[in-house]
Amino acid sequence: MKLIIIGSPGAGKGTQAKRLAKHFDIAHISTGAMLRNEMRNRTEIGLRVADTMNAGRLVPDEIVTALLAERIQASDCRNGFILDGYPRNAAQAKTSFDVVGNIDRVIDIIAEDTAIIERMSGRRVCPSCGCMYHTKYTPPKADGVCDECGASLIQRDDDKEETVKERLKIYHEATAPIIDYYSSMGIIMHIDGMQDIDRISELLISELEKYRSEKL
Ligand code: AMP
Repeated sequence: MKLIIIGSPGAGKGTQAKRLAKHFDIAHISTGAMLRNEMRNRTEIGLRVADTMNAGRLVPDEIVTALLAERIQASDCRNGFILDGYPRNAAQAKTSFDVVGNIDRVIDIIAEDTAIIERMSGRRVCPSCGCMYHTKYTPPKADGVCDECGASLIQRDDDKEETVKERLKIYHEATAPIIDYYSSMGIIMHIDGMQDIDRISELLISELEKYRSEKL
């Protein structure tokens, strides 16, 4: 099964994508995570995209598309995959057919900007073990310190409030229009991202199971 998950930054795409990937035994491909990995490893690509990513802007299409084309050759993609963070604009949506072929379903997670700003700007991450916290909803036991490994928590540059606002602006301008494109193809599934996280997973899994059994 080949899926795409779309939604504003912070709408919960990553969490749902992980769960769906596990349930359907498909690969979870996050272009944002792949790019952050390039930055962490200080590769040529990583160094090229660092400023753009830290400012919350989109990196050039050809860089992301090339990374994706290579990633889908991996053996964990044999049953399919869920693309999280790609496509991000109309050009990528058009190219995606050449790169990944036909898509079964596109999931659109709908969330309000004000809630997104609160969710993302409160996010803190442990640079050492990757644990995630939220200053209001899931704070660490000691302020600014990771419960698991004791490292000092940081705020990712692209989670800073001004950057989040910039990312939302880009989402509404560049990414949201591709929802109409997939709607016209009749493959979109909309879901309210303000519901309980488990409830969202349950609804998505049941809808996709239904789709899968009808398709087989
Ligand atoms: P994400 O983790 O999906 O929110 O992505 C983090 C950042 O990576 C974005 O703000 C962009 O700078 C970059 N990025 C991720 N996916 C893409 C894409 N498909 N096209 C362009 N830039 C991307």
